[in-house]
This record gives sequence, structure tokens and C-alpha cells, in this order.
Amino acid sequence: MLRLETCGLCLQKKELQNSHLLPAALYKQLREPSGRSDPNPVIVTRSRALTSSKQVSSSFLCADCELRFSVNGENYVVTHCAKRNGSFKLRELLQGASPLCVDDKNQTAVYDVQQLLDTKADQYLYFTASVYWRASAHSWKMGGEQVGKICLGEEYQEQFRLYLFGEAAFPKNARVYVHVSSDTQVPLTVTTVPTTFRIGSAHRHKFCIPGVLFILFLGSEVSKKFDTFALNGNQRKIMWLCPWQNDSLFRGILNRIETATPMGKLRR
Ligand SMILES: [Zn+2]
Repeated sequence: MLRLETCGLCLQKKELQNSHLLPAALYKQLREPSGRSDPNPVIVTRSRALTSSKQVSSSFLCADCELRFSVNGENYVVTHCAKRNGSFKLRELLQGASPLCVDDKNQTAVYDVQQLLDTKADQYLYFTASVYWRASAHSWKMGGEQVGKICLGEEYQEQFRLYLFGEAAFPKNARVYVHVSSDTQVPLTVTTVPTTFRIGSAHRHKFCIPGVLFILFLGSEVSKKFDTFALNGNQRKIMWLCPWQNDSLFRGILNRIETATPMGKLRR
């Protein structure tokens, strides 16, 4: 018999799918090609580093809403992030363009992607919103451990839901920064734990997929303080090309891999 439950996004009674916190396609493309002993990617959670074929998933969205997420962001973003075979389409696009400005000391270049990506820039914005909203609107678990939970706050969470559902504009108190890795050895890690940090009256959230870091600033002052270098700035659509070695999220991932309790095949 068909089991109908309320979809998290459209709020209609529908048959729910096995939804993912991060796109299943990401895990698939991260798997080692055959020949290595463990074909699964390293997944980092709050206390563990494990090679796992497990993905963070549970019944949450209906098929229509899953499709909405795929076509409005996921499909495009996932095909343009860093791949195990060395391809990294987003970075190649940036490297082929002239930066708006360059900071040699920090090895950072910023690009106005308005013309370069055209409407595809919106796919990055939609994808970012969809991951943060999923992480806030649902409790995700992996191996009994809660992962990925962040709190956007009731009001912002609803603003994001309406935007993702196509009923409102992008939340006006939110700015998204996109940092594309310029590192020779691109980190192929996926974070299952978006991290949150408070800066004055604003909150800063972070998560990454291979080679692309998505930072969300949220708060009443954000549209003034964090507009200039944001993907959804009032004047420009900015992306950064920069090394990740000093980024707090990436440092945290390295520390966690070093201090984590090895699970599964990582255990010696
Ligand atoms: Zn739905």
C-alpha cells in the first residue's frame, strides 16, 4: 500500500523518496576506481573518519521536490566540481577568465562570474541554499550518529524553504561566498557536518564538496557587511579562487582525520 507522508519542502502529502543530505552522485564519483582495496570515499563526521559506502539519507522529500533540487542546482554543480580523475570544470572556467582583482600575498583571485556563468551562477546559489536548508530542516543520521545538523532559525529556515520551492526570492539577509580551491592537490573531501561560527550579530556556516567551499552568512547586518565579495552581491556575482590550507573548515577536517576514531577499513 502507498504510504503518504508530508514532504519537507512542498508540505504536501506524498510518497516520500530516500532523500540525501548531499547529492548521492557526489559519493558515487568519489569512489576509488577498481584496483584499490577499498572503493569507498573517506567520510568525515564530528568524531570519526571512515571509508563508507553509507550516505546520509532518510525519507524526507517527494519525487517532485527531489527533481526540483536536481535540475535547479545539483546536476550542474556536481558535474563541475573536482573529480578524482583530475577534471575540475569550474576551476578551468575561472582560470580561463580575467579576475576582477588579485591578492598576491594571499594567493587569492576574485572573479565576477555574472557573464562567465550567466544563469548557472544561480545554480550555485540554489544548491547552497538546498544543502543548508536540508541540514537545518531535518535530523540526519549516519551509523546512529547525528550528522549535518545546523540551525538556521525558524524564520530563515522558512524563507529558504519558500525560495527553494519557487515562492520567494533568495533571503535578503543571506550572502553566499564560494571559495574554489586553487591547491595543486585538490581536497576531495565531503563534509557531512556543516560548521557554524558566530561573527558579531551574524552566523557563518560552511560545508564543502570536492574543490568547492560554500560559506553562508546570515543575519540582519549581513547585506551591508558581506555584500561585496558574495555570489549574490547587489552589484556583482563573485567567486574566489584561493588555497584552502588556511581555511578553518579544512584545518578542522585534517585535525578530525588525525584525531578521529578509525572505523571500518581505516582501522589498523
Ligand atoms: Zn515535495
